[in-house]
Amino acid sequence: MKKAKKSLGQNFLIDKNICEKISKLLNIKDNIILEIGPGYGNLTDALITKKPKKLYLIEKDNNLSIFLKLKYKDHKNINIINMDFFDLDLSKFKNINIISNLPYNISTRVILYLFDYNTIINEMVFMIQKEVAIKFDYNLKDMNKYKFFTNIYSKYNKCFDVPPSVFRPKPKIKSSVVKFKLKKNIINSNKLHLFCNKIFRNKRKKIISKFKNNELISQNVLHKRTDELNIMELLRIYNSF
Ligand code: SAH
Repeated sequence: MKKAKKSLGQNFLIDKNICEKISKLLNIKDNIILEIGPGYGNLTDALITKKPKKLYLIEKDNNLSIFLKLKYKDHKNINIINMDFFDLDLSKFKNINIISNLPYNISTRVILYLFDYNTIINEMVFMIQKEVAIKFDYNLKDMNKYKFFTNIYSKYNKCFDVPPSVFRPKPKIKSSVVKFKLKKNIINSNKLHLFCNKIFRNKRKKIISKFKNNELISQNVLHKRTDELNIMELLRIYNSF
C-alpha cells in the first residue's frame, strides 16, 4: 500500500464488517450504482456481492485507478473512470444510486452538488464526518441552510456512527453513515436560492425584520430568529414566499 494522500482525503476502510453494514443500506441488486472514490475497493467488494446491474467507480487518483482496473478486470459490469468526480457528466445517467466513503475535505460540496440531480438519483449513502452529519440533520435544532436544502431535496437519516479505528490512516474525527432518499419533484432552484439568501443572511435577526407584511406568517414565528425556527415553520414561510 502506498502512502495515503491527504490532499485527496484518503482514509481507507479496513474493517470488512463495517463495509458490509454500509453496503446493506443501499438498494444494490439489479440497480445502477456509482461509487465515488473507491480507493483500493474495500467498500466496492461488499457492493459486488449484492449484484448490481452496473457499477461505476469514479477515482481521481491515477495509481489507485490502475490498481482497480487490474483488480476488477474480470468483472464485465464494472466501469472504472479515472476522473475528478466533479468533472463527470452526471446528466448522462438515469435512475442511479450513489455510495461513498467520501473524502472529508469535499463531503459537504459533493452532497450540495448532488441535490441538483434529484430527478436522476434515487438514493445516496455516505460516510461523512459526524459533525457534518449533524449539520445536515433537519430534525435537530439550530436551523441552517444545509438542513433546509436537505429537507427540500430529500428524506434524510443518520444511520450509525463509526469510530476512527476502522480506517487507515486513522482520521482525527468521528464519522457517521447517512442516507438521503431523494425527492423526485422538480425544484425551483432560483426561488430556493433567493429565499435562502434572504432568510439565512443575518440568522440572528428576527423573521419580522425580513418578512414585514406577510399575513401568512404567524405572530409567534415572526418573532423568532431564523436559527430558532423548526423545519415545519421554515417550510411554511418558504411556501408563502
Ligand atoms: N472507498 C475507499 C476510499 C475512501 S478514501 C475506502 O473506503 O477504503 C477517499 C477516496 O476518494 C480516495 O480513494 C481518493 O483518492 C478519492 N478521491 C478524492 N477526491 C476525489 C474526487 N474529487 N473525485 C474522485 N475521487 C476522489
